[in-house]
Amino acid sequence: MQNALRSICIVGGGTAGWMAATLLCTVLRGSGIKLTLVESADIASIGVGESTVPSIMDFIQASQINLKDLIQATSASFKLGIRFADWSVPGEEFFHPFGRTGKDINGFDFYQAWLKSLADGQDSNWLDYSPAATMAEQQRFMLRPQHPNNWVQASYAHALHLDAIQLARFLRQLCLTRGVNRIEATVKEVIVDQRSFIQSLTLDDGSNLSSDFFIDCTGFKGLLIEQALQVGYQDWSHYLPCNRAVTIQTENQAPPVPYTVATARQAGWSWAIPLQHRTGNGYVYASQFCSDEEAIDTLLSTVTGKVLNQPSVIPFVTGKRNKIWQRNCLALGLAGGFLEPLESTAIHLVYKTLVHFIQHFPDRDFDQDVQDGFNLKIDQDYQEIRDFIILHYCTSKRQDSTLWRWCQDMPVPETLASKIALFKQRGQIPHSSGQFFSCDSWYAILEGVKIRPNKYHPLLDAFNRQDLVRLLDENRQQIRAEVQKMPSHHDYLQTHCPAR
Ligand code: FAD
Repeated sequence: MQNALRSICIVGGGTAGWMAATLLCTVLRGSGIKLTLVESADIASIGVGESTVPSIMDFIQASQINLKDLIQATSASFKLGIRFADWSVPGEEFFHPFGRTGKDINGFDFYQAWLKSLADGQDSNWLDYSPAATMAEQQRFMLRPQHPNNWVQASYAHALHLDAIQLARFLRQLCLTRGVNRIEATVKEVIVDQRSFIQSLTLDDGSNLSSDFFIDCTGFKGLLIEQALQVGYQDWSHYLPCNRAVTIQTENQAPPVPYTVATARQAGWSWAIPLQHRTGNGYVYASQFCSDEEAIDTLLSTVTGKVLNQPSVIPFVTGKRNKIWQRNCLALGLAGGFLEPLESTAIHLVYKTLVHFIQHFPDRDFDQDVQDGFNLKIDQDYQEIRDFIILHYCTSKRQDSTLWRWCQDMPVPETLASKIALFKQRGQIPHSSGQFFSCDSWYAILEGVKIRPNKYHPLLDAFNRQDLVRLLDENRQQIRAEVQKMPSHHDYLQTHCPAR
């Protein structure tokens, strides 16, 4: 027997805490490792974080959660992508769909084939070749079959919009039936030993809770990782200056649409996340360009439907901890870092952090190499997502406010600048396995803001022009035909998983 962990203590019962407990109790079943979660009745969870990306489906599967139960318990709707309104210039919009766009033609990236067809004088929209965008446009939906019958069914992906508070409750209930030990208490002190490892926690009833390993899910403050271990924070506000959000919930005016809406505003952007029972709304803004009062007024004057609660302002600092894993402590969720929610990636990063953690699972030797390997991987994930979010700002052509004029000349990380430069030359995006945003995602944003490369791949010139037109046309027809067979998103929800 190796020097195995005997216990893990998760501190915090928000989305991150309960996701960690759910996945770990599934994966660690039979290991003998005791899993405890401490949550405070006195410190509220953040209560936002309702739009996800397709990896939520992987989390659900890996955690052996019944999808229908989860959808019904969280009043969830399906999400096929994000509609960006007024982003490039006011009055225009584009869509970032999940999944693949087009079917590769004779081994060539479909985007390159499409570029060649444009150069040949054909006129078509990039999104006509996206199954998810076509479904979203027609508000149709069907779960992707486990064994797709054709390339269209195999090409789309979907995620969920879900009620954050109900999600934590649902996962908590599940964990209690699976043997997770829940303690309701507020952690008053974190005791660190002489090696700077966390030894135990002092709870508000005066008791002491020790564990081999701790997962800090205490939200922005990072009670363990920052206040006790002081790992430090990389502040990325110079790239992404939005640092506050105001949120409200509204009554639905119509059945939920299967996409999130992100609308650019004077000092940032606002979201609308449609659930089955209500809509979540928020305005993310930069405080140097907009006061809280202005932000609240903007949000209240742009939402539709009866307002259900008081506006709530949430400050944040875009960035991440210098180390997400330090000694015997892992930081998860907002305790680990936060990138503004433009591409709904925070819950994805919770899942991704857990996946890397399981791959690099420690024993009580706490090998430094293992931690370093993990930190390298998660750093790459944060950086990739950071760059993708910056892409939306630095390519906007809006000049109608101080924020958008600032964006015209904003600092851009070298990793992103070189990507954009290569794309502009010949439409290629350097991509490696393990990256979350596919080339199709990059193409969707760049096409949305009307940035096209100067050239296409030279070998496409060998391709017969008529054949190319025919193949592209077939692609489009196959998508249309397949989507026509699907029920409306509303009917699908009502028939298969209406909110409880
Ligand atoms: P929290 O929800 O803050 O939970 C912290 C927990 O720690 C609470 O249970 C609290 O009681 C407990 N706690 C704190 N201190 C103590 C203590 N001393 N003792 C015991 N317990 C303690 N993510 C997405 O994926 N999609 C989105 O669309 C999205 N939108 C967002 C919009 C905004 C404006 C913000 C700020 C975030 C958004 N996020 C989004 C991120 C998402 O909300 C979080 O990633 C997610 O909710 C996880 O939060 P958390 O569990 O880390 O923290």
